Parts: sequence; C-alpha cells; structure tokens
Amino acid sequence: MEGDEFRRAAGEVADFIVDYLKGVKDRPVLPSVEPGYLHKLLPANAPQQPEAWQDIMTDIQDKILPGMTHWQHPHFHAYFPGGNSYPSMLGELLTAGLGSISFTWIASPVMTELETVMIDWVGRMMDLPKELLPYTEGGTGGGVIQGSSSECTLVCMFAARTKTITALKETHPGEDDCILLSKLVAYFSEEAHSSVEKAANISFVKRRILPTDDKFSLRGETLREAVEKDIASGMVPFFVCATMGTTGSAAVDNIEEIGQVCAEKDLWLHVDGAYAGNALICPEYRYLLKGFQNVMSFNYNPIKWMHVGLDCSVMWVRNKYYLVDALSINRIYYMEDEQEKHLLDYRNWTVPLSRRFRSLKLWCVIRTYGVEGLQEYIRSHVALAKMLESWVRADDRFEVVGTVEFGLVCFRLKGENNLTEFLLQRINQSGKAHMVPASLKGKYVIRFTPANWYYSEEFTKKTWDIITDFAEVVLRKHREATQRFQKLLAKYKDHARARHESASGGDVFEEEEDHSWNGVLRKLGYRTKLSDSCGAPARRQSSLEEVPEDSTLDDVQQNEAGSSSYRIKRALRSESSFRSLSLYGDESTRPVKQPSETLFS
Ligand code: PLP
Repeated sequence: MEGDEFRRAAGEVADFIVDYLKGVKDRPVLPSVEPGYLHKLLPANAPQQPEAWQDIMTDIQDKILPGMTHWQHPHFHAYFPGGNSYPSMLGELLTAGLGSISFTWIASPVMTELETVMIDWVGRMMDLPKELLPYTEGGTGGGVIQGSSSECTLVCMFAARTKTITALKETHPGEDDCILLSKLVAYFSEEAHSSVEKAANISFVKRRILPTDDKFSLRGETLREAVEKDIASGMVPFFVCATMGTTGSAAVDNIEEIGQVCAEKDLWLHVDGAYAGNALICPEYRYLLKGFQNVMSFNYNPIKWMHVGLDCSVMWVRNKYYLVDALSINRIYYMEDEQEKHLLDYRNWTVPLSRRFRSLKLWCVIRTYGVEGLQEYIRSHVALAKMLESWVRADDRFEVVGTVEFGLVCFRLKGENNLTEFLLQRINQSGKAHMVPASLKGKYVIRFTPANWYYSEEFTKKTWDIITDFAEVVLRKHREATQRFQKLLAKYKDHARARHESASGGDVFEEEEDHSWNGVLRKLGYRTKLSDSCGAPARRQSSLEEVPEDSTLDDVQQNEAGSSSYRIKRALRSESSFRSLSLYGDESTRPVKQPSETLFS
C-alpha cells in the first residue's frame, strides 16, 4: 500500500468508525455467533496474492462485525466501561504511524520523556503524595505506564519480593534463595481481582486471601491477625494488595488501617485502583488518599474511566530503585553505562522489553477534554449510577447490595439467587443489554455501570425498563412454576401414601430400590433410617407428612423409567428446578449463548 492509497483508506476507515459508533445502538449488544464461527468463514490459508483494501473492509462488515460484543453500545453495562474516544483513537493512529519502539531512553527519547511527564501530570491531577511523583527533588518516586493492572501488581510484587529476599540474605547469609522464597506470604482480600492471585502464582509466593467486612472492604485488624499468625509460625509476610474499587462491587479496602499494619510490619503496600482510582481526579474523592503515606505503589487504568482506549495502566512507586533492582538485566546492546541513565530506561520497570507510545494517546485525551472535561465524565457516570440505584431502591422486588460510591450499582431480585441469575440470563439472551454478575458473600448480583460512549439518563432509563420488563416475566414464571410444583408435590405424596397403605406391612417400598425410591424421599426432606445401632435392618419411618412443602428435587435419580411414580417424579424434578423456566421460552429472547456466567474477575 502506498501513501496515497493509505490516505484514502484511512479516510474510509475514519468514516467507517464514525458510522459504526453512530449506528451501534441498533445492533444487539452481544453477537449470536457460536465458538469457531470465524474459522468457518475465513479461508484455511493466508492469501498468496495481494488483496484489495476494499475486500478487507467488506469482510470487516460481513465477517468481523457479526462476532463483536459492542462495548460502545449504550446498553453495554458489563465489567467496567471500555474507555475510548476520538482523541484516544487519533493518539493510537499517530503511535502506529510514528512506528517507534522504546525500551531505553535513547531508543526514542521522547517516548520516555512524555511518559514521565504524563505520570507527573496525572499524579498532580489526583493530588498524589509528592513522594510518588517523578520530578520531586531528591525523591525516589516515579512512575511508568504498563499495559494492564495485572502487570502493575505483578511487577510491584516482584519488586517487593526482591527487596525482602535481599534483606533476608543479610540476616540469613548462605541460605538458599528457594528456602527464603518459600517463606514469603502475600495478602489480599477475597474481593481482590484475580490478577493479584495470578501475580502470587507467577511470583511463586504463598498467599492469604482474607475475608472482608460487611461492606466488602478489607480491614486492618483482619490483616494484622493474619500477618501476626504467619510471623509466629516462621513465615515472612512481605506484600499486601489493597483494592480501591473492587471488581465485584467497587468496594474500597481500608487503606488507612491496612497502611498502618504495613508500616509496622515493613510490608510493601500496593493499591490496585484499576477502576475507582480514576475518581481521584475529582477533588470530592480525595478522601480515598487517606493512608497513602504508607503506600509503596499505586496504579489505575485510564482505559476504564478516562476515555482512553486499551491499553494503558498508570503506575507510581515510592522507590523506583526497588523496581529496577528486580527487573533490570543489562546487555551491551542497550548501551547503558551510567546508573542514572539506567533508571530512565523503562524496560527496567516492566516485564516486556519493547514498549508502545501509550503516553501519546493519554496526552491527546487529557488535552482534548481538559481535566474539567474528564471530571465531568466521571461525575456524570456517578450521577447515573445513583439514579439507577434510586430506582432499584424504590422497587420493592429488588435490593441494592453494597454501596454505590462510584459508577457501579450491584442489585438483585429479592429472594433466591436463581431468580437474579435467571433475570440476567434473560437480559443477556435478549441482546437488548449486557451486564455481568458478581457473587457478594454468597449473594448473586447483577452489576450495572453506565456505558462509556453513550451514557445518558435516557439510556439508563431504557436499561432500567429492560431490567424491569424481564423481572416481571421471571417473577411471573417463578410464581407459576412454584404453583405447579406444589400441586405435583401434593400429587406425589398422595401417590406414595396410597402405595404405603396398599402394602402389607413390613417393607412397604420393597418393589423399588432404596437408591431410587428412598433417594427421592430423601431429596424431599424425608428421612429413612436403614439400620439400628446394632446393624440390624430397622423399620423404615415413613411419615410423608414430614416432607416440607417447599422441598426441591434437583438431583433425583432417573433410573425408574416406566414405574408408576416415575412420571410424577420426573415432572416434579423439572418443576422444582428453576432452570426449567427456560423451557417455557419467550418471544422476546433470541437464541444467544450467554458468554459469561461468572464474573470476569
Ligand atoms: N484490578 C481490578 C480491580 C479490576 O477490576 C481489573 C479488571 O477489571 C483488573 C485489576 C485487571 O485489569 P487489567 O485487565 O488491566 O489487567
């Protein structure tokens, strides 16, 4: 492709993007394709001859778009928002066009320089402690842009691990690194993102997953207890990850209390602010910085809540030397000779060597929106979340779980988890909106966050209408199924009672095997006593009146086909399982496979 052709094609791609975003609301949020769909559509082998750009664009329309989950759809409320904006796209295009790669300062000085300036800008926008900022005179702080939060947690854990092992080697000279490593323990809460546990796996350290309080927040005392217990048993606590905005419910760990424990016990405290960290650019959220004097490292993802497209995760450290100690490997071709220059080489702050010019799109976004524009975006999301929260609270079929402090609302239908599970399944299957669940202390909840691109009161209201319309269907089906279940249960009891009466004493259920007939009775809550304490067969207790009216029959064995009770039992079984409701169908649902039954964390 030559320059002029690129110019034309780039214009067409820009048109395509604008049109796509304008029309995205008319598409189902989730695609209706099956796994492997694209393999069937694309040729088995790469083309031998050049193809026209136009043909590629046609395939993008016909083959690529049908497989897209539309993250910029107004009713995409899953995960956290997938940040994007035109300035971010332009920054990406420029990055691609300039085509430089950075790893050492000299590999492309401006890439390092702009990154450091952006880290300083954002740190100031958030009013982070100056000890974390790169240009603080005499300081050891600094930052780097990683590809993801997962990498930020990982490299900070590496830094803490190296720091602790280095210190242990001084007190235990001659001890093998592997022995020392086997003593290290990392701590985080049950609500921490899966990436923290993954970092512990990769770092080969032990971990304690700690319980949270009733607000899903990790408290200092819980940490202290776990740390002291480990110290008493000869382990070496070294790292704590606190979350500012958990994935499940956007809860915030008590950084002040946790920080005190970390300071006392000399633990590295990392704060994962992937989503809620963005809110720090609004002064009203600065209370979240309480306890930051003890924070060793912090990161947040502008790609979640600051209009920046993937990938970009900004990270600050209190002491860059620890990070560089853990990650720096020199070779002659990197042309490093002076210690201070070595510190400027961001390859020593990250796992990959080669680095993208991520700071360029961040710069483009911050300049185009201004700090006030970005604050306005965050506040709009919070206002919409609070609006939805008020509607949920006003509807007595629903309840809100957790606190709505940012742009995330966790809600559920009151009652059994499977009601909410089924509601979410219905919503996602309809293609009208997309949300994902979380499990908060055993409660299954639906998570709602306003969409990134199209967020407004009107769209939020429409989503609420979608939710309540489906809730009505689900609750009606549930009522009908419950009534049918109760009827069938009564019929089943009559049937069993009749059999009992017609039997001539002794083993009334002899004709049917224990593992089937009694299995059913046990599922109904009916207890059978098969032997007395001497091992002799006992008379079966057979009062069916003991069977609770609201019993369920989820796992009844189906090995009695043809028997007189089988049909009733089978019917009971399908009625009792709320999943059976899906058999009733609904005109408004499309056969879309639910892509995510569990949360992405
Ligand atoms: N931490 C939290 C709190 C998150 O919510 C997420 C993802 O949503 C992550 C970490 C992982 O982010 P990344 O995809 O940037 O690794």
